[in-house]
Amino acid sequence: MDIDSDFHKMNIKPQEEGDTRIPMDSEGSSNVQNDKGKENEELTNSMKKLQVEESSSGQAGSSFKKKPVIIIVVGMAGSGKTTFLHRLVSHTRESNVRGYVMNLDPAVMTLPFGANIDIRDTVRYKEVMKQFNLGPNGGILTSLNLFATKFDEVVSVIEKRADQLDYVLVDTPGQIEIFTWSASGAIITEAFASTFPTVIAYVVDTPRSASPVTFMSNMLYACSILYKTRLPLVLAFNKTDVAQHQFALEWMEDFEAFQAAVSTDSSYSSTLAQSLSLVLDEFYKNLRSVGVSAVSGAGMKDFFKAIEASVEEYMGNYKADLEKRRAEKERLEEEHRKENMEKLRKDMEKSGGETVILSTGLKDKDERGKAMMDEDEEEVEEEEEDEMFTEDEDALDEDEDEEVGRFTF
Ligand code: GDP
Ligand code: MG
Repeated sequence: MDIDSDFHKMNIKPQEEGDTRIPMDSEGSSNVQNDKGKENEELTNSMKKLQVEESSSGQAGSSFKKKPVIIIVVGMAGSGKTTFLHRLVSHTRESNVRGYVMNLDPAVMTLPFGANIDIRDTVRYKEVMKQFNLGPNGGILTSLNLFATKFDEVVSVIEKRADQLDYVLVDTPGQIEIFTWSASGAIITEAFASTFPTVIAYVVDTPRSASPVTFMSNMLYACSILYKTRLPLVLAFNKTDVAQHQFALEWMEDFEAFQAAVSTDSSYSSTLAQSLSLVLDEFYKNLRSVGVSAVSGAGMKDFFKAIEASVEEYMGNYKADLEKRRAEKERLEEEHRKENMEKLRKDMEKSGGETVILSTGLKDKDERGKAMMDEDEEEVEEEEEDEMFTEDEDALDEDEDEEVGRFTF
């Protein structure tokens, strides 16, 4: 079986008019069908691009739109994200709300709803697994990384249709950490949040959270997401058709009720849960909770009310915070640019207008640079200069982050 050609087919899918599929890099792909080294190089390039985009994603929001509202649905595997999203889709259709659905789970076999933008149209996760010798989680993560490199195109597709949309509902991969703890998840979230009002819907499996320790783990996870994304968060206690969520509301409001519940559990983690519940008290004040059932459809109105309130909060707090962060970032970049210009000026002064050796910023390289400058410059032949350049390139590989920073003029 020719895996490579399959992989490339994925890359060069034609983009029809009005089609929301995002083609991956297609340049020169036809002549490198069996070259794995080249493939890996392409992946590395994509990853590098990712780093660059990660640092610049904050600037995408110069054209901030008030609509559509982006709802990113996250939650533990099996908490019912996909089913909940299906319910949201039916609800929006019934109430004549205009929405777009986006699937970011490359590994899902069948979706109960038709996604307008589907990562599976762009990246074939099984082929990525085979191509790069990855396990299922690595495959999902890499697929999401590849997709994230093209995310500006996704945002512009939505921007173009912004007038006709009220909501964009986003489903994320089954395993929560793939989205919440990956660079690509952060890029995607930030790209959205800097262009549209964005809210996180954290889906909780209510029956499973009846155990105080499980409840605590779930809340800690939601808490970390709130602080990581700094976006408004709505807790959707799902599966209320099986177990009502009143106990959860009580635990969140009354710290002592939770302590009493935990004390019935004698495991070592319950002591930890007791101490942590104090910390979480503050967190509970920052969010909205609703009970829903993806299966029966209960709680949809309350959920959308909570979303509307979160959007207001977003416009009031988050946007200002985002603008502050963006201004600070621009200030730092400007400082950096000046620093680099100064460095370049010094290098040129030292060389007296002759050969300029760009300092890499690495200490030992600086020393070497100076030593070479002291040598008789006229005897340095072109060949040797080439060699110096190659050495500098090696140095780049040694400490990429530092170099990327230094060479950004
Ligand atoms: P995901 O991994 O978070 O996307 O979870 P799924 O949407 O695939 O759902 C996992 C399982 O939970 C499926 O068997 C669903 O039928 C079930 N499920 C989801 N929502 C509900 C609900 O509201 N009530 C009940 N009883 N089951 C649900
Ligand atoms: Mg799912």
